[in-house]
Amino acid sequence: MGRAFVYVILGGGVAAGYAALEFTKRGVSHGELCIISEEPVAPYERPALSKGFLLPEAPSRLPSFHTCVGANEERLTPKWYKEHGIELVLGTRVKSADVRRKTLLTATGETISYKILIIATGARALKLEEFGVTGSDAENVCYLRDLDDANRLVNVIQSCSGGNAVVIGGGYVGMECAGSLVINKINVTMVFPEAHCMARLFTPKIATYYEDYYTSKGVKFVKGTVLTSFEFDSNGKVTAVNLRDGSQLPADLVVVGIGIRPNTGLFEGQLTLDKGGIKVNGLLQSSNNSVYAIGDVASFPVKILGETRRLEHVDSARKSARHAVAAIMDSVKTGDFDYLPFFYSRVFTLSWQFYGDNAGEVVYYGDFSSSTFGAYWVNKGYLVGSFLEGGTKEEYEAIANATRLKPAIEDLAELERQGLGFALAASQTPLISPPLDVSGSAVVLEKPMHAWHATAGVILAASIAAFAYWYGRRRRRW
Ligand SMILES: Cc1cc2nc3c(=O)[nH]c(=O)nc-3n(C[C@H](O)[C@H](O)[C@H](O)COP(=O)(O)OP(=O)(O)OC[C@H]3O[C@@H](n4cnc5c(N)ncnc54)[C@H](O)[C@@H]3O)c2cc1C
Repeated sequence: MGRAFVYVILGGGVAAGYAALEFTKRGVSHGELCIISEEPVAPYERPALSKGFLLPEAPSRLPSFHTCVGANEERLTPKWYKEHGIELVLGTRVKSADVRRKTLLTATGETISYKILIIATGARALKLEEFGVTGSDAENVCYLRDLDDANRLVNVIQSCSGGNAVVIGGGYVGMECAGSLVINKINVTMVFPEAHCMARLFTPKIATYYEDYYTSKGVKFVKGTVLTSFEFDSNGKVTAVNLRDGSQLPADLVVVGIGIRPNTGLFEGQLTLDKGGIKVNGLLQSSNNSVYAIGDVASFPVKILGETRRLEHVDSARKSARHAVAAIMDSVKTGDFDYLPFFYSRVFTLSWQFYGDNAGEVVYYGDFSSSTFGAYWVNKGYLVGSFLEGGTKEEYEAIANATRLKPAIEDLAELERQGLGFALAASQTPLISPPLDVSGSAVVLEKPMHAWHATAGVILAASIAAFAYWYGRRRRRW
């Protein structure tokens, strides 16, 4: 038995939801599009699982966070898909793919064929077993990648109020879960091998701010070591974790957030892979021109960084999805994806955003003992990355715009002195660049090599300095 569609999206996560909305905006006909997902529910905003979903009071529950509410767009419920003639094949795993024949075989034995395939299979959580530790299947050991995991975690949280949790991993899933567990009145110890939390993004100075804040909320940190084994009771429940440094921590709940692996398995040997993901060009098209890849599973050229990257963040999933659909439905008018990497996190009353790349020298600004501070990264003389904690909407837009402009930075001390004022001024200077689109299609000011660029650069610097002086006087905390 089998069905045939013009477009098939394989995977039903964040990227799939945004792709579906874009298809309808571009006039896909009823019956042309199908989404196949292993999950039993329509696409939803996955980041909610470690935030509102874990709150003890008025927690977020579906249908409230179906895509595309995270980008202030329509909420796509199962009814919406039906009304738009989009076939949702839920609770169905695709077990093999044949890109030459353009077919997918589901675990239920159905063959689904396509003209164009969009791979949106995302990633799976790495299991402890992959690091030689057994016990992941114990009832109080939790991972957090999908709704099933989140429901399971909520049940365990509810059964151990006042108890002890050990969070394994210091990335953003670990940090956000730790924050939520504290709010649920659970004693939390975080264990990770690195010297500080969020090691892939944060500098030691930035990490110290968050670790100190967490410590003030009662979280304990055990750094520089890893989990080696569990202790179990007679029912198979974990009672403690053993660490490589010889210590033991009591545990009523263990949350494991040790990274993810992209779901590329169906396409290995059929499509070109790169950086652990499916390699695509600027149109999100793979080495087979009927197959596109979006979201966490795609390795795409990030123009502003001049290299291919695979990103594991929701903004990139949303925007790569829209861009792939634009490329499919309107190939003449669609140019290459021009994406500015963007990550964020929210926990307790903290909220940070990061744009660009964390390469090169770091320049800090603001007051790290207050609730608003940040950092710039300057690589080879150009501003390439910006971080801000506790900013306003306008301030976040400013650091995004300034990072996209990639201005030349000659004097790091001056950049430090100007602080956030630099980004605010740079983003308000219409002189060199047309209005910026944080969503990623604006012209990028790269290296100002010509004479007019140099002149414009001087005027830009002067106006930035003037604005920064005014801004500094207005906001004394800078
Ligand atoms: C708890 C949590 C919190 C997060 N918080 C943030 C945050 O604060 N900020 C941020 O930027 N990012 C965050 N992220 C990351 C963000 O959610 C991901 O980048 C995003 O979900 C990627 O979207 P995607 O569509 O590529 O993959 P996913 O959303 O993971 O969707 C993949 C889908 O494919 C399905 N699938 C896979 N293989 C098959 C198969 N063989 N057959 C059928 N279906 C299949 C899966 O079941 C799933 O439905 C968070 C992630 C998690 C797990």
